[in-house]
Parts: sequence; structure tokens; C-alpha cells
Amino acid sequence: MIIHNAHFYLNGSFANNIKAIKVEKGIITQLLESVPAHLDEAIDLQGGFAYPGFIDCHTHSISGGIYTLGVDLAGCPNIAALKAQISSHAQKQKPDALIFAWNFDEGSLTEKRFPNQAEIDELCPDQLLLLRRIDGHSCMLSSNAKAKITALKSQDAILTGAENDLVTNWFHAQLDDEAVMSAYQSAAKVAMQGGFTTVHTMIGDAEMSIDHFKMLQKRLPELPIEYILYPQSFNIDAAMEAGSPRIGGCILADGSIGSHTAALSQPYQDKATRGSLYQTDDFWKGFITRAHENKLQVAVHCIGDLAIKQINDVYLELQHTNPQDLRHQLIHCELCPDEQISQIKASQAIPVMQSAFDLYWGNPGGFYEQRLGRARAQQMNRFASLIQSGIPVCGSSDWYITPMNIAMSIHAMIHHHNPLERISAQDAINTYTQNAARLSHDEMRLGRLQPGFQADLSVLNADLTQRFDYQAVRTNYIVKKGMQVYAYTPNCP
Ligand SMILES: [Zn+2]
Ligand SMILES: [Zn+2]
Repeated sequence: MIIHNAHFYLNGSFANNIKAIKVEKGIITQLLESVPAHLDEAIDLQGGFAYPGFIDCHTHSISGGIYTLGVDLAGCPNIAALKAQISSHAQKQKPDALIFAWNFDEGSLTEKRFPNQAEIDELCPDQLLLLRRIDGHSCMLSSNAKAKITALKSQDAILTGAENDLVTNWFHAQLDDEAVMSAYQSAAKVAMQGGFTTVHTMIGDAEMSIDHFKMLQKRLPELPIEYILYPQSFNIDAAMEAGSPRIGGCILADGSIGSHTAALSQPYQDKATRGSLYQTDDFWKGFITRAHENKLQVAVHCIGDLAIKQINDVYLELQHTNPQDLRHQLIHCELCPDEQISQIKASQAIPVMQSAFDLYWGNPGGFYEQRLGRARAQQMNRFASLIQSGIPVCGSSDWYITPMNIAMSIHAMIHHHNPLERISAQDAINTYTQNAARLSHDEMRLGRLQPGFQADLSVLNADLTQRFDYQAVRTNYIVKKGMQVYAYTPNCP
């Protein structure tokens, strides 16, 4: 099999004399300086720019997949429009369907508020409705759904923290295997459109049930791209029983900046609170130590400086007392003061970061500045400082929170709002290729176009090492294990 007619990204540039790639059984066997005269089996990439298959290191693809089939409230202007969108979607669904509405942002409504319970209850009285805030950290549900979730103790209309997780997981757990698989098929299509060949994905709450994780493990070959699975739970026994080499994901050390629940050493600028740590130091020490001793890679969500410190301190201590090459993860790692960077270097933990957060929230006068003030807004998402310290930062979207879109992600890293945190296109590409491959111990298999590596290619219409308009970049082809699994079709973007 010969892959040809493309510019190939090798050693940080397209400036090379490679004209084709030879592939056997899904593995690159040779880089060729000329295209063979006789092509029996070939993929013609039509002059595109071929990168090593991009890897998104942190997503919630089950949620995203479900929501792409639900109601997207992005850009919704007011409560009346929200009601109209949800009711018209619900009317088209089966009478016993679960209705998922997402991307809700009260800040962008004229009313600047959540709907009240009565407004929610009138939308689809016979169906169960879940409405999620854009950051995933708070939600509302219809009263009929509330009545069904017996484990839910709170009477609050807006649910956060553990209750937000509980009801979201309950909704997901109602889906049968086929509904789960169609959500992943939908998610895989979104990933390929965005330029990705491999996606790390967080799965449910294995404390409630590990069934979904096990089912997906078995059925991964049905999906066109590769998923790297995380049992997103505190249940170490269940993760090991399922044969997972890792545990965690967005298991929460703290909340989010949007909900004023990220744990900060100094109060928020716009509210008299410092957020809070969701668990004690002892809890994390016990959990992470036991996972580490069982050779599980650990991933924990930490956004505020206190949360990053709390988790990294445990990683650091374990690195001293029982060093292992497990590559524990600091998911988000958003507010990272200078002194914390050297501590992360010492712990050998890996920040798994979301470049689009800066694009969305880092602008002068923007969301970070409103919540945190100028000085701290400058210390958010510190790609350059971390990378210059030799820390192998990994890139991700946290999809459904921000889009899986490689061009947007690279653009956001190159054009960080704080000029001191900008990185080169090559470094940005590395966070989604070589560094990302290393995160799952796949650095000898993924992330490079080289003999011996899997033939995964993301083919775009643009050279990301030159000036580019990310909104004009599109994915032309995705090649996975030497097979073309996606091609752009003009009328169906
Ligand atoms: Zn997440
Ligand atoms: Zn998270």
C-alpha cells in the first residue's frame, strides 16, 4: 500500500523530499523519495498536508456523542428561545425518549439566569429532560426525572458538584448498548471532521457500573478511530478487574471557574469565595497511592492553584518514595503560579490542557479577567512556561466543553492572549502528536510519520507551520492504520 500526493510533516516541517509512504499491515515501512511507477493499492491525498494522526488527550465523547444527537443551546439568546428549541426537539423524539440539552450559558441570555423549575417542567412533560451548563459543572432536570433518581437528595433546582455528576451519570446509564454505540459513532465523526485519529475518552462513573466501559472495550473495533478509555471513577478494583492501565479523568479535585468552585488560594475577583477543594488531602493520598502501587496511571481534574498543588503534591511524594513511569495526569492545570511549575517538573506529572480555553476566556476584559482579575488571568494555561521547563504538555479539547478542532487548538496555542505563553507551531503540533502519544505510553507506535509507526495520518488543506486562518482549515482525509476512514464531502461539512 502506497500513500502519496501529499506534503508529509516530518521533523517539524514539510520541507523534505518524501513523496510517498509505504504501508504494510497498517504500519509505515518506508518513506519514499519517489512515487513507484506501478500503484496497485494506493491512497491519493490530492496534494493535502499530511500530519501524524492528531490525538485529543481528553474528551467526554459519550456526553458529546449523545449531545450532538440532542439540543445544542450554543448562541441561544433568551429563555423563550430556549423553550422553543427544547420543545420542538422533544416533539420529534419518541414519547419515552431522554432529552439532552447542552451548551446552556445563562450569561449569554438577556435574562442572565437559569430557567426556573416550572419553566423546565412545561417543556416536555412526558419525557425526562437534562439541561447542562456549558462548563458541565451544573445542570437542571425536569421534576419527573428528579422523582426517578432516588439517590438524589438535593431539592435545589440547579445541581452542582457530586449531584451534578450523579444525575448526569444516571441519564447516561439509561441508554442501552446500541444508543451508546451510536453516540460513539457520532462522536467519532466529529473527531475525524476536527482532524483526529485517536481520542482519549472518559467513561461514566464506574462506581455505579463498569458495564459501559466493558462493553465499549469489546466493541472498539467497530469504530473508525481509536479510543483510549478511562474508567472515570474512584473504584480501583473495578478498573483493575476491567484490565484498564489507568483510572480517573475528570474526577474532581475542585470545580470550575465559571461556577466559582475552582479552588483558589486568593478569593475570586467578582465573588467573596475561594471555591473549595472537593476532597481532603488524606483522601487523595489514599486513592492515588493505592492506584500507583497497582501501577495504574492516575488522571485528576484540577483547575485552581490549590487543587493543582493538592494533587501534584501526592504525585511528587510518590515519585520520591516509589518512583514509577506511570505518567500521572493533571487535567486542565489552568491556574498555575510560577512556583508550581518546578513542582510539576519534579513530580513528572503531565498537564493535559485545553488550548481553546484561552481562546474563549483569555481575552482582555474577558471571562478570566472578570472572575480572577488581571494578574491571575495572565497565569492561566501556561503553555510556554511549562514547555520551556521541559514538561511534556499534552493538548486536548475536553469536548463537549470546546470543539474537537485541531486547527483552532493550534491557533489558540500560537496566539495565546499572554504573549509570554505563546508557543511555536511545532511545539503546538507536538502537544497533539508526540507528547500526546507518550501520555498513553504509545510513543513508539503513534505520533510520528516514521517507519515502525502506525500509519495514522490527519490530512488538512493547510500548512499549520505557516500563517493560517483556522476557520478556513478543514480536514480532507483521515487515514487510520493505513485505511482511509474519512474524506471531506463538500455539501455535507
Ligand atoms: Zn474533562
Ligand atoms: Zn474536568
